[in-house]
Amino acid sequence: MKKVIIIGSGIAGIASAIRLQNKGYVVQVLEKNAYPGGKLTQLKGNGFRFDAGPSLFTMPNLVTELFEISGKNPSDYFNFDKLDILCNYFYEDGTRISANSDIQIFADEIEKKTCDSAENVKKHLEKSQFIYKATEQQFLNKSLHKIESFLSLSTLASIFKLPFLNIFSSMNQVNEKAFKDSKTIRLFNRYATYNGSNPYKAPGILNIIPHLEFGLGAYLPKGGMHEITNSLVKLAKEIGVKFYFNEEVTAIETDNKLAKSVVTKSGNYEGDIIVCNADIHTVYDKLIPSAKKLETVDKQERSSSALIFYWGIGKEFPDLDVHNILFTEDYKTEFNHLFDSKTIYEDPTIYINITSKHIKKDAPEGKENWFVMINVPSVYGQDWDHMIAVARKNILSKISRVLGENVEKLIEFEEQLTPQLIQNKTNSFKGSLYGTSSNTRFSAFLRHKNFSSEYKNIYFCGGSVHPGGGIPLALSSAKIIAKFIK
Ligand code: FAD
Repeated sequence: MKKVIIIGSGIAGIASAIRLQNKGYVVQVLEKNAYPGGKLTQLKGNGFRFDAGPSLFTMPNLVTELFEISGKNPSDYFNFDKLDILCNYFYEDGTRISANSDIQIFADEIEKKTCDSAENVKKHLEKSQFIYKATEQQFLNKSLHKIESFLSLSTLASIFKLPFLNIFSSMNQVNEKAFKDSKTIRLFNRYATYNGSNPYKAPGILNIIPHLEFGLGAYLPKGGMHEITNSLVKLAKEIGVKFYFNEEVTAIETDNKLAKSVVTKSGNYEGDIIVCNADIHTVYDKLIPSAKKLETVDKQERSSSALIFYWGIGKEFPDLDVHNILFTEDYKTEFNHLFDSKTIYEDPTIYINITSKHIKKDAPEGKENWFVMINVPSVYGQDWDHMIAVARKNILSKISRVLGENVEKLIEFEEQLTPQLIQNKTNSFKGSLYGTSSNTRFSAFLRHKNFSSEYKNIYFCGGSVHPGGGIPLALSSAKIIAKFIK
């Protein structure tokens, strides 16, 4: 039987392993860390549990179908709840907007709290659904680099719809036309950060993202996000995938434009097919330095990174929900800092994720597990120690101001995740969360393809290649490569 070697056990590596094992290959996954999941992992301390990376879960069908194609009942492995409240938004003037997953309730809330009408909100979300329907099959579920992908009637239909998909205006321009109130505009502009982009530069087609939450729903796995990794690794092992941890691949050996084996400190693993889940920069820079591609890969702008404080908080805050946003007053300046001067704005937008609101055992009784995150630039040689110390002070002061409580005094446990740690832990180039940004209208086409044109048996999956970053797209990349590999 033919052998597949997968480099990396991020979510896309695990999904590729399941799909290819089901196709009859013998699959081995080599992971540099002692644990699977890459960015999708967890940490614990002082009675608190935190999801370390992703916190927002959309399109759960991309996970459950992995159980179905393996002949298993998904609910025997993996269960999740739909969230009624998508997010609570807080503004400095005291306004609070609760985004209910029911579009009518949300639209009425916007009409009540801002000068925008419920009707406009509903129209905007209908447009978001239109973009989703026009692009889903053609641009997200297929390679953009195979001619067959463009030879279907449905693709041609999508191409004719391009002028209506807002690719020629920025997301902010589209949102400023749709709404009058800066609070509503900020709320919808923030969706650009779901793939690490800048709403003032990214094309309006990114207005597809609100549909993922409002149309398809936001979910939370029963045991937290980490259960996505746990349950899929359990499934993969049951169907015969072999995992090797603490097994960093240092080179891919090639001969006559074919990959033959990969090298680790324990020796060589031979494979008929090599799937790289590691960041595409790492692959070209470290594993196949003879390949020609690195320069093109490096020309593209990285997505933003993140600074996260995991705080065990000794009190409950009834005004907060699972997902909460405390908005900056000047969103444009915040993005100029992130993408132009590569620094952190003094009044950053703060995201607080509290899974213990839904999963009681994630924090001791009467306490909460706060995952406090701000978007920050990726790594360009900045003085991070200084920037992080200043950001921590600014974050604490803003949260305390908005919630009317001295939060620093309530911190019982603290850990941090910085862009450098993200880079070191998962080999993600410059610590970016989502590979490359979508800050130009051509970004989708410039993202690296899912196969190598130089080496016939090397494939690429994960957030740094087509169709992009985030759990759903990383899972889609696994689906795309499994279609190529006959
Ligand atoms: P990774 O998770 O990057 O995994 C790659 C794996 O390859 C790692 O395990 C790494 O150790 C391994 N590896 C690398 N090099 C080697 C080597 N040489 N040898 C062996 N192994 C190697 N997405 C969402 O959908 N929702 C969110 O809310 C969200 N929030 C996020 C918040 C944070 C803080 C972060 C960091 C990310 C977030 N994301 C979110 C993005 C999401 O986590 C990623 O897009 C997705 O997990 C990427 O999966 P992946 O399979 O591409 O790769």
